[in-house]
Amino acid sequence: MSQEDTFKKIISHAKEYGFIFPGSEIYDGLSAVYDYGQLGAELKNNIKTYWWNSMVMLNENIVGIDSAIFMHPTVWKASGHVDAFNDPLIDNKDSKKRYRADVLIEEYIQKLEGKVDKEVSKAKKKFGDDFDETKFRETNPRVLKNLDKINGVLDRFRKAGEADDLAEIRQIIIDAEIACPVSGTKNWTDVRQFNLMFDTKIGSVDGDAATIYLRPETAQGIFVNYLNVQKTGRMNLPFGIAQIGKAFRNEIVARQFIFRMREFEQMEMQFFIQPGTEEKWFDTWKERRMKWHKTLGHDETLLRFHDHDKLAHYATAATDIEFNFPFGFKELEGIHSRTDFDLKQHQEFSGKKLQYYDNERNESYVPYVMETSIGLDRMFLSVLSAAYKEETIEKEDGKTDQRIVLKLPAALAPVQLAVLPLTKKDGLPDKARAIINDLKFEYKCHYEEKDSIGRRYRRQDAIGTPYAITIDHDTLEDDTVTLRDRDTMEQQRIKIDEIPQILKEKVSMTSLLKKL
Ligand code: ATP
Repeated sequence: MSQEDTFKKIISHAKEYGFIFPGSEIYDGLSAVYDYGQLGAELKNNIKTYWWNSMVMLNENIVGIDSAIFMHPTVWKASGHVDAFNDPLIDNKDSKKRYRADVLIEEYIQKLEGKVDKEVSKAKKKFGDDFDETKFRETNPRVLKNLDKINGVLDRFRKAGEADDLAEIRQIIIDAEIACPVSGTKNWTDVRQFNLMFDTKIGSVDGDAATIYLRPETAQGIFVNYLNVQKTGRMNLPFGIAQIGKAFRNEIVARQFIFRMREFEQMEMQFFIQPGTEEKWFDTWKERRMKWHKTLGHDETLLRFHDHDKLAHYATAATDIEFNFPFGFKELEGIHSRTDFDLKQHQEFSGKKLQYYDNERNESYVPYVMETSIGLDRMFLSVLSAAYKEETIEKEDGKTDQRIVLKLPAALAPVQLAVLPLTKKDGLPDKARAIINDLKFEYKCHYEEKDSIGRRYRRQDAIGTPYAITIDHDTLEDDTVTLRDRDTMEQQRIKIDEIPQILKEKVSMTSLLKKL
């Protein structure tokens, strides 16, 4: 199955089972806006809890806040968003489709890289154990030609970016003969800068109304509250402030489902440190954040770091944690060493001192900042796409069957335990309800009595429920139930009073957090 087919299947599965619906669907949807359904909201909340607790509960020196979406307009002047939060856009005159010029160029480079990789794997197959990849890359003429092209475009693109030369960016697209995927033509408009912030008016009288922005990131709410939190929380460096909240960006091309949306959620943490300790903290947070992802048990090959070669003028280091989405490796989270840039900007624009008095050093200074920034929706997509599996299973009669199963990390699953009475009679439903009534304060349980047990198991597999218990007539006699494991499909007979311990060990958020 191609990656594209897998992606389509994941999207339709997400809709069919109530994870994600297109926004305003009965009005034919709204571009790049999605709603989380009954199961999606649960999964999303569990991801939030995993992030929030890992930051705020497990670290004495990290606290959480919840700041407003609307902020004083000068915040976005100070942060640089008014002047520089732009993407270069270009239109194809024939299809009238709009693209991000930088993305067109990046996709072109990726295509060339794909060609190089193909040559390498072809040669690897041909030469087997004797294959020397480094030498091949340095000498093969076809590889060299493509690498030359890649380096040439990258070099021009970097210089054009630094000089803000939009005409040159257009020329790169023309010279590389990049065609519009819809019309197939190379009939391009000029490149223009487009600011990604949504604006609106605050105030009831038109004349008095001031333009304000919907925040394009949550981080600024943390920076402007730095001093409030430091003083009222009596925080000493190093300390962090975490926040989860909505952000809005008028993305030029919002594609790829919930990967790039116009309204999305971020989970950001700014860690305030002594200047001079940034290298140590950058490495620490890189490692901690990667561990957070890996603790979910994904296949290791799905995650990688991508260090930035080109840094913002104020940054000392930056890396992305990339995830292998069904459409390839893309940014999932950013880790940035931002020096004292943000606080100093706010100090200058607000005229208020944003300093820290360091008792040890006996001096005041503006702290440095280490930032970890992850999109909640992208995290949701990474978890969902890693979990989606189509399996062929052997049946007892020797025939085979297919199942779709979401192998979600158990603690994140929207439903954690399915409770299934074998029949609707003989007091079995009452027994099932009694079990749920004991567990429902800590775990999301799902009661189902319709259809055969096999079909009910399939439905639970499709929504990722890690365990199901079946209540049968023996249960009434000896208080035992059959526990079925989603992944192995193995069944075992256990005592009802063993269930809480099993859930605590295998399904609880605590069990996941303890692995960190
Ligand atoms: P990209 O290069 O993909 O546009 P970015 O570098 O602009 O992302 P940041 O500004 O660093 O992203 O934002 C931090 C995180 O917020 C990203 O790593 C991503 O997970 C998430 N994010 C950013 N833009 C969007 C969006 N339009 N939809 C969903 N998530 C987003």
